[in-house]
Amino acid sequence: MHIYRTDEPMKLHTTFRIGGPADVYAEPESAEELMELISVCEGSGTPYMILGHGSNLLVGDGGIRGTVICLGKAFAEIRVDGDCIEAQAGALLGAVASTALEHGLEGMEFASGIPGSVGGALVMNAGAYGGEIKDILESAEILETDGSRCVVTAEELELGYRTSNILPLGRTVLSARFRLKPGDPEEIAAKMKDLNGRRKDKQPLEYPSAGSTFKRPEGYFAGKLIEDAGCKGLTVGGARVSEKHAGFVINIGDATAKDVLDLIHEVQRRVLEQSGVMLEPEIKMTGEP
Ligand SMILES: Cc1cc2nc3c(=O)[nH]c(=O)nc-3n(C[C@H](O)[C@H](O)[C@H](O)COP(=O)(O)OP(=O)(O)OC[C@H]3O[C@@H](n4cnc5c(N)ncnc54)[C@H](O)[C@@H]3O)c2cc1C
Repeated sequence: MHIYRTDEPMKLHTTFRIGGPADVYAEPESAEELMELISVCEGSGTPYMILGHGSNLLVGDGGIRGTVICLGKAFAEIRVDGDCIEAQAGALLGAVASTALEHGLEGMEFASGIPGSVGGALVMNAGAYGGEIKDILESAEILETDGSRCVVTAEELELGYRTSNILPLGRTVLSARFRLKPGDPEEIAAKMKDLNGRRKDKQPLEYPSAGSTFKRPEGYFAGKLIEDAGCKGLTVGGARVSEKHAGFVINIGDATAKDVLDLIHEVQRRVLEQSGVMLEPEIKMTGEP
């Protein structure tokens, strides 16, 4: 095992920089080690969760009972095969997008600034600026809970707006195959630069966060609803609704998960009162309060 630790603070592994200790934290070194670890957990009834880059997670202050399995550096291989790119689950989307650019392949530009792993991106059907994983995913290699390893098509993952069937079915993503198309490297680079510039201008990237806190309600923009409800800058402990982009809850220093949750509930309450819309969190919450 590459890394195997007990009582590992999850704040070290989430972009929110929040989260109590996981009973066990492991970074397997190979698919075989990963499968063995999952089989031990399944066999002993120990709960486990797969961690990617921790960029969409709010882990409770009480931490995580069970085992957190991080697919990190040992699962970061990226391979180009004609117009396709195959990437292991732990590879960062930014690295996959850079590889696409290097090989003059178009279609990954929307993902270049999303700070997650391939596995997390499939789980969330991550998307931005009019593109989403669903548009480019051809197939994925999956580990099922019974230990079987199989390749499934994108359709079989039932990708929807920030959802898939990966978590509900207890699946683990091992790798993904993206179908891209040949493009002009200069145009691809210019598009990435433009989108990343827009991110920098609009998003509070200087603070820890987990990205957009809420899903976009149909027919509305979460940020605008939050702003209209007077929540910009609203603060609970170390958690604040960003003044730069109201769709983001940021950690302004030593926020607890409870601060974030209390703030989320207050924003939901005020937005519901103001506009009649119930905001649904996009960030995944896990662990003990
Ligand atoms: C500043 C910022 C900007 C962001 N912008 C965007 C954006 O534009 N668009 C967007 O969609 N998202 C955005 N996000 C959110 C986040 O980056 C994405 O949701 C990303 O896809 C999550 O990937 P991850 O590897 O960090 O997943 P994690 O946070 O590690 O995990 C998310 C969920 O996926 C599960 N999971 C992770 N890997 C696997 C695997 N291999 N197999 C099975 N389950 C797995 C985890 O158990 C967890 O439930 C942003 C986040 C930040 C901090």
